[in-house]
Amino acid sequence: MSTTMMTTAHLNAFKKMFEEQKSSLVFNKSMMDESFHIQADEMMDETDLTSAELEQSMRIRLRNREALFAKKIDEALRRIHAGEFGACDECGGEIGLKRLQARPTTTHCVQCKEEQERNERFHVDGRKPKSEGRKIVLKLA
Ligand SMILES: [Zn+2]
Repeated sequence: MSTTMMTTAHLNAFKKMFEEQKSSLVFNKSMMDESFHIQADEMMDETDLTSAELEQSMRIRLRNREALFAKKIDEALRRIHAGEFGACDECGGEIGLKRLQARPTTTHCVQCKEEQERNERFHVDGRKPKSEGRKIVLKLA
């Protein structure tokens, strides 16, 4: 039997998942910090320098993405605590359980998100719509 209604059990499952993801992000971050240093005083030829710079920029990008994702998780947890989780930021309507299970950190219902993306495409021609974050596989107990 499947239902589209948000229950306390669903909320608890979301909360647990967000908390697990958050702790795994913090772990990754500290791992990266430890290995982040690049020895600038080492003799590097052009190729080494380029790959080191590339690696550093990739790490920074990954870290920024993780920081952004952590922020989204914090916001989702705040919404759960405030009893706002599952309500659209824009219209106040139901985001829908199915959509939340596919994109747990989303704050907009499909209609508002599509509207937003249409506007973004209109204003910034050729730019890809912003990602809503990493796709999450939700484990429902
Ligand atoms: Zn909406």
